[in-house]
Amino acid sequence: MVIRSLNLETVCGITSKLPENEHPEIAFAGKSNVGKSSLINALMNRKSFARISATPGKTQTINFYNINEELYLVDLPGYGYAKVSEQEKAKWGQLIERYLHGSEQLKAVFLLIDIRHDPSANDKLMYSWIVEQGFNPIIIATKLDKIKRSQVQKQIKAIRQGLNLLPGTIVIPFSSVTKQGRDEIWELVETEFME
Ligand code: GDP
Repeated sequence: MVIRSLNLETVCGITSKLPENEHPEIAFAGKSNVGKSSLINALMNRKSFARISATPGKTQTINFYNINEELYLVDLPGYGYAKVSEQEKAKWGQLIERYLHGSEQLKAVFLLIDIRHDPSANDKLMYSWIVEQGFNPIIIATKLDKIKRSQVQKQIKAIRQGLNLLPGTIVIPFSSVTKQGRDEIWELVETEFME
């Protein structure tokens, strides 16, 4: 993907009206610190356009990045941050649900899982939630550079089993350090989800 233009066009908080965009939207979900901002920056060929969280889980907004006036990368707020109150969690849930349920242009949801760890209870919840909204999420196994090559297949298998992935679900290992996996993600987006 050649990035010709890039714009953080809309930031939605819990009380915001969600945008009615005219171009396809691709959303990214994952727990705080999983590497979501780093992935989005890598996809946009930028170092720090998307927020990189110093205090994980603090920003409870949905950010819409307009790419080339033809596509949106949608950064969903991270989950699983321990210091967030139950009330804040509930609001977070409503915002995400409103988006997943209501967006007319949402074409695909990517769910990020740290390749080093078995999926958490929150990861499992998020996965089943996305499936309930009618999407078959694509899994991105992040921080690939942190494990030995010989461990990769074993960890991917653990993610498949941990999330009880539907047969045929795509899992793409990715590293924002080496950028491995980036072209594969773009190719998938361009061939499957853009008109
Ligand atoms: P977010 O909270 O999901 O947006 O996560 P960030 O993108 O802010 O990343 C959280 C931390 O993990 C930061 O310190 C990143 O530098 C680091 N990180 C993210 N992706 C990778 C990766 O692929 N490899 C390595 N080694 N570190 C990463």
